[in-house]
Amino acid sequence: MDFLKEASGIEQEIIKTRREIHQRPELAYQEMGTAKLVADRLEDLGLEVKRGVGGTGVLGILVGRKKGRVVALRADMDALPLEEMADVEFKSKEKGVMHACGHDSHVAMLLGAARLLAGHKDELQGTVKFLFQPAEEQGGRGGAKPMIEDGVMENPKVDFVFGLHIDGDEKSGVFGFRGGAIMAAPDRFVIRVIGRGGHGSAPHQTVDPVYVAAQVIIAVQGVSSRMIDPVQPFVISVGSIHSGTKENIIPDEAVLEGTIRTLDEATRKRAKAKVAEVARGVCKAFGARAEVEFEEDAYPVTVNDEKVTEEAMRILKKAGLKVKTKEPLLGGEDFSRFLHEAPGTFYFLGTINPSKGCVHPNHSSKFKVDEEVLKLGTASLAQLAMEFTNPKN
Ligand SMILES: [Zn+2]
Ligand SMILES: [Zn+2]
Repeated sequence: MDFLKEASGIEQEIIKTRREIHQRPELAYQEMGTAKLVADRLEDLGLEVKRGVGGTGVLGILVGRKKGRVVALRADMDALPLEEMADVEFKSKEKGVMHACGHDSHVAMLLGAARLLAGHKDELQGTVKFLFQPAEEQGGRGGAKPMIEDGVMENPKVDFVFGLHIDGDEKSGVFGFRGGAIMAAPDRFVIRVIGRGGHGSAPHQTVDPVYVAAQVIIAVQGVSSRMIDPVQPFVISVGSIHSGTKENIIPDEAVLEGTIRTLDEATRKRAKAKVAEVARGVCKAFGARAEVEFEEDAYPVTVNDEKVTEEAMRILKKAGLKVKTKEPLLGGEDFSRFLHEAPGTFYFLGTINPSKGCVHPNHSSKFKVDEEVLKLGTASLAQLAMEFTNPKN
């Protein structure tokens, strides 16, 4: 079968679905309307559908006529809290909410793939599970974990799992793959610098947490440059600092918040320990105290299976799609949690097209998807499911 041709045949429907979702974006764990649209469509296709999976998630199951393996395909459904500034005619109708990460396209492409695969039930060997996940942007307890806890990877057990993400950093129509680590563990931290307040004119009678916090910000950068193997990707950013009320009052405490990003678990463990140690040590040196907290349950590193990735690249190339190797990113993804349950790959589809103004990165208020790539994404998902379910491959 020629999924590329078939996807082109339903292109208008995929685009229509995407625009419909784009106009009604919903934040993490509020994806009621999107989930209903998804579940209704899957039911219309004759799939077995479970609603309310892991909160607002949806599971669709397509059982082929012949026996084979089980492949899961995942799309995330949540939008972001920002006001859309893109010049499109189907602009977001929800104030301050926008599909700025392309999750609307993920849903539309996966629904397209479900339609194509449902049309080939007779040839399908095995089972395809469609995972429509809530709350990817949530961080911490994102939607993947509760879906897994609700059993989506079992009964029948998933053999391979695939996820596709729209990429505002790659040319339109080009698929990006990478075996091994592709996305980082995003570890959020809070450092509370506890000093002792007093009058701004008499700092010697106080322990000034503002001054100490400034030292901590400088010192933790040394973890990156002096304590972590320089060939390992690692970044630490302090993104917020809060303290004080008035220029002549030395406050009691200062609070720093930041994130560290790593691409392997050993570096991650060491980095977290060193950041805490340095913060505590610097505070102690100045007579202050540090309370350091890392967010529990942060997303793990996203690690693609090498063999599955290679095979997936080969399959898409053979289907006439443009494929290249992608460099890792230090963003986080809770697709990583599915990869802990089954081997698979998280891959990307470029959408940069200057002639259509599709030049802004994911999470920009001007982010715009080149809709011509949607049929390619749909075809790729259907093709991977068809081939990886087949036990002969
Ligand atoms: Zn995002
Ligand atoms: Zn995303």
